[in-house]
Amino acid sequence: MYQPGQSADPALHEVIESIVSLTEQRDQRSLEHSLFSSFQEMLDHEDCWLLSRERDDDELRIVAGDGRLLPDVIFDLLKAGVPDADIRIVRAGAKEYLLACTLSADDEQARLLAIARGAWDDGNLRLVRGMLKVYRNFVSVLRDSAKDTLTGLFNRRRMEAKLNDLLAASLHGRRYKDQNYSDFLAVLDLDNFKRVNDTYGHLIGDETLLAFANILRQTLRDDDLIYRYGGEEFVVLLQELTQAQAAKVLERVRRNVEKHAFPQVGRVTVSIGHTRLKPGSTPPKAIEEADRALYHAKKSGRNQAHGFQELVSSGALQDHLDNSSVELF
Ligand code: GH3
Ligand code: MG
Ligand code: MG
Repeated sequence: MYQPGQSADPALHEVIESIVSLTEQRDQRSLEHSLFSSFQEMLDHEDCWLLSRERDDDELRIVAGDGRLLPDVIFDLLKAGVPDADIRIVRAGAKEYLLACTLSADDEQARLLAIARGAWDDGNLRLVRGMLKVYRNFVSVLRDSAKDTLTGLFNRRRMEAKLNDLLAASLHGRRYKDQNYSDFLAVLDLDNFKRVNDTYGHLIGDETLLAFANILRQTLRDDDLIYRYGGEEFVVLLQELTQAQAAKVLERVRRNVEKHAFPQVGRVTVSIGHTRLKPGSTPPKAIEEADRALYHAKKSGRNQAHGFQELVSSGALQDHLDNSSVELF
C-alpha cells in the first residue's frame, strides 16, 4: 500500500494518467480510442488492435492497429465473436492474444479488442480487466447523461450529434435502396400544452409527456430514433424510407396521439413538421425546415402533420427564407 513519503510505483502513475485521459472523453468513440492508446502505452505499441462489426453484417473491420500484424487465425476467432463480459486468451505462434469486447453485442456495433504479448501474467490481466471495467462504467455514465430523466429518451445534444452523422453519411455517398429513399427529421410539438399544465398542474403535465413518449415508442420502429428536444417538443429521425412512407408514419403518430385517452387530461393532440435530409444540408437548416413545416401545421389549426418539401411543391412555403421575414416559433 502506498504510504506518504514513499515513492509510488511508476506504473501506477501511468494507470492514473490513463484513467484521467479516459474520463476526459465525452463520446463513445473517443473513449474507445483513449482506452486503446492506454493499452498501447502500457503494454506494447504494435500489438494492439481495435475492431468493429455492424450488428447485421459479418464484416469485421480494423479501426485502429496495424492489420498486417494480426494473424488470420485471431482475426477469424474475433469474427466468430467474443463473449460480452469476458476476456479470452488464445495462443498463436509465439504470442498469447487477449481478446475482449469493449461494447456489448446488442449495441449497433460490436467493438472488439485484441492485445498480443509473449505471455499474459496475473498482473497484466488484472490491469486490463480493471481498465476495461473503468471504461465500461464510464460508457454507462455517458449514456445516462445523453438521456432525458423524465422520459428516458435521448436528449437534444444526442440528437444533434446523430443528425450530424446522418447528414455527413449522406454527403459521403451512403447508399440507399434507390434515390427515392432517404432519412427524415420530424419535430413534434404538443398542442396547447400550456393549458394542460394550467388546468391540471405540472405533475399531470409531466405524466402526459411520459405517456406521449410511450406512444412514440409504441408507434415507431426500433431504428426510428426518438429524442426529447426540450419541454413539450420531441424530434424523430426516420431512416431510409420514401417521402410517402415518412408522411404515413408521422400521420400514424398524430392519429395514435389523438385517439389516446390520457389519464385525467383526456384528449391531447400533436402538430408535426418534417423534412427530408438532403446531402449537403446542415443540422440548423434541416431543423429550420422541419420547424417551418411545424409552424404551418400550428397556423392551419394544429393536430396536423406536414412535410417541408410537400409544402414547397404546393406553393404553401417558399424554399428559402429571405432573412427579413424569418418566422420565429
Ligand atoms: P402550441 O400549440 O402553440 O404549441 O401551444 P403550447 O401551449 O403547447 O405552447 P407554449 O410554447 O406556449 O407552451 C409550452 C408549455 O409546455 C409551457 C410549459 O408549461 C410546458 N412545458 C414545457 N416543458 C415542460 C415539462 O417538462 N413539464 C411540464 N409539465 N410542462 C412543460
Ligand atoms: Mg413548444
Ligand atoms: Mg406546444
